[in-house]
Amino acid sequence: MSTVVYVEQHEGEAQRDSLGLLSQAAGLGSDVCAVVLGEQAAAVAAGLGAYGATRVYVADSPALASPLPQARVDALEALISEHGFENVLFASSVLTADVAAGLASRLRAGLNWGLVDLRVDGGQLVGTQPALGDSVFVDVGWTSTPRLALVRTGAFEPKNVGGDAEVIPFVPEIAEWSTRATLLDREKTVSEGPAIEEAEIIVAGGRGLGAPEHFSVVEVLAAELGGAVAATRAVVDAGWYPYSTQVGQTGKTVTPKLYIACGISGAIQHKVGMQNASVIVAINKDKNAPIFDYCDFGVIGDLHEVVPKLAELVRQQKSG
Ligand SMILES: Cc1cc2nc3c(=O)[nH]c(=O)nc-3n(C[C@H](O)[C@H](O)[C@H](O)COP(=O)(O)OP(=O)(O)OC[C@H]3O[C@@H](n4cnc5c(N)ncnc54)[C@H](O)[C@@H]3O)c2cc1C
Repeated sequence: MSTVVYVEQHEGEAQRDSLGLLSQAAGLGSDVCAVVLGEQAAAVAAGLGAYGATRVYVADSPALASPLPQARVDALEALISEHGFENVLFASSVLTADVAAGLASRLRAGLNWGLVDLRVDGGQLVGTQPALGDSVFVDVGWTSTPRLALVRTGAFEPKNVGGDAEVIPFVPEIAEWSTRATLLDREKTVSEGPAIEEAEIIVAGGRGLGAPEHFSVVEVLAAELGGAVAATRAVVDAGWYPYSTQVGQTGKTVTPKLYIACGISGAIQHKVGMQNASVIVAINKDKNAPIFDYCDFGVIGDLHEVVPKLAELVRQQKSG
């Protein structure tokens, strides 16, 4: 099986989920290539051998400078047609979801999305896809090649195993109509402390906080613990906290050592993003909240009383 992994990069930095997917693909035992596109792609390509790529295809052109999908669809279509890759893998993001969908349409190929695992069974690629509100996992396959797969964020850890890859530049032909869309503006959210994907400790806030300004309660505890702040979809949809912090089915999957859920009911769509935390602590005033069914430690109480006390205890512990 020949496989190519699309490695998403921004400003010369490969995205962690792409590296995790590349590591996983390399571990499946087939010949795995990577493709990197856009400005500074060459800088990223050199390091991908360490994550298991044997060859890295690199393309840069003014049409690929903005993180827009259509020109990337053109570039990937050309690459896949030339080399006949059977598996084309993407780690899910706003950009790759559009690229993978566009490519599937262009190649009339099957795309399985939202996968949480990939394996080879009887020589065939098999994906694991959560279904029915993430309450069951089903095996999914493809009836034709190329097989396109979009893997959920946080599904695989990058594994740096050392190694070199051959870097092969290519010049894709980009159709004029693929460059019609223009990126007008980008906004960067600068957050303090660790990113939630990498944090060992996460303090998460939900609608139980009552108001956006009450996120400060969660932030103080996170700062005391040296952790990151996360949120539920209910609060990011309400504009209380940035989308980049959303944990769950349509947000990020996190695996910290400690996850403290404050004012979070624990809906299944939230649970799937944090259930693999080593220790889950829930603070909720409703003893029937679903989160108490699967947390390791639960505090039934008002978070506005409990969380500041907890932060104070951590502070005392650190200074004492
Ligand atoms: C297709 C789909 C995808 C979804 N994806 C996601 C996702 O990725 N991530 C996600 O989080 N959700 C997702 N959701 C939404 C999910 O179903 C829930 O609606 C959401 O997680 C609820 O957020 P919450 O726990 O903050 O709010 P609520 O469910 O309203 O819970 C608030 C909790 O706070 C408690 N509370 C209130 N006041 C206090 C207080 N003073 N002290 C202590 N506790 C208090 C309440 O008892 C309650 O349990 C998705 C839904 C759908 C349909």
